[in-house]
Amino acid sequence: MLDTSPAAGGSDAASELVVDLRAVKQNYLSLQQRLGKSECAAAVKADAYGTGADKVAPALFEAGCRTFFVATVDEAIALRKILPSARIAVLNGLLPGTEQVIPEHDLIPVINDLEQVSRIREMCVAAGRALPAMLHIDTGMNRLGLSPDEMDRVAEDPDLLTGPDWLYAISHLASGDDPGNPENAAQLARFADQRRRLKRPLRASLANSAGIFLGLDYHLDLARPGFALYGGRVEDGKPSPMEPVVRLRARILQVRTVLAGDSIGYGGTYKVTKDARIATVAVGYADGYLRCLSGKGAAYIGDQRFPVVGRVSMDMLAVDVSHADPTEVYPGGYIELLGAHYTVNDAADDAGTIGYEILTALGHRYTRRYIEAASGES
Ligand SMILES: *Cc1c(COP(=O)(O)O)cnc(C)c1O
Repeated sequence: MLDTSPAAGGSDAASELVVDLRAVKQNYLSLQQRLGKSECAAAVKADAYGTGADKVAPALFEAGCRTFFVATVDEAIALRKILPSARIAVLNGLLPGTEQVIPEHDLIPVINDLEQVSRIREMCVAAGRALPAMLHIDTGMNRLGLSPDEMDRVAEDPDLLTGPDWLYAISHLASGDDPGNPENAAQLARFADQRRRLKRPLRASLANSAGIFLGLDYHLDLARPGFALYGGRVEDGKPSPMEPVVRLRARILQVRTVLAGDSIGYGGTYKVTKDARIATVAVGYADGYLRCLSGKGAAYIGDQRFPVVGRVSMDMLAVDVSHADPTEVYPGGYIELLGAHYTVNDAADDAGTIGYEILTALGHRYTRRYIEAASGES
């Protein structure tokens, strides 16, 4: 196994978050293969969904990715330092006050309304050249992007768009993870209509991770997956075709015998009915292990599953390891809270949320280890 990074953000005594860069690259390659001739970009906003953009983005670049999407200008500037030659697009748009830094760091603003259209045109005049930009057209998400009214004005006065170098028209699916939802096809059609009304045809990008799996029609010129790259499930209720990327190994602080009739943790929500052995481990809700997984989450040693019992507290949680081989559960040892057995998607289901939230919540107290090859170690 190739360990590519020194321990960061935690000591040898901390719980460990292992990020499998080989799996990230593999996920990228399999999405790119599925896309055929369409280009596969990568959404690496929110620190690559909590996995660490400084390591994950270069791995994606190595796998062939050349276009990256982040949310904010600050994320884009940080990414530019790591990837000098990549295309970096800023989804949150072209906000007042960013007119200098955007061209300075060679960033691509995703233009979200007509005011931003004017702003980028003024910037082009000031720069004396056509600055790159993307045009976000809203087709039903009603979050960002030019509204149908604004698109009417563009259609009436096509010169409104002259000046910038429009790399892509983009739009975003509201229900891509629900393939049966007719809104997907409706958005695809609205996007095509709006693009047809532009004076010059622009290359187009619609699909996020889930969108790629809706079929060829959705691929267009560029896809922008995020979640699937990090092992996320693309369709609700179906197992993920992607490889898991994160593995959370919790450090065991103590193993104690709890007698029948006693209870565990805050509120005494879990009462032991038979004498039990309980491992107290160093992961809590302050580390992004959601408190609503109290009494619901699962831990693994090898292939053996153990329940998370009692309330998850800030720095710790408890696992009933009564049935474990005693030689495998000891203070200083590890027990797996997320990984191939109990995935980010499983945790999301048990927590009543989505894997995106599980990933982006991952805390900063872990020792983060980035591996390049499959690890046989447990
Ligand atoms: C976050 C985001 C993506 C990536 O979405 P995933 O569901 O993570 O694949 C793509 N496009 C836009 C506009 C986004 O905000």
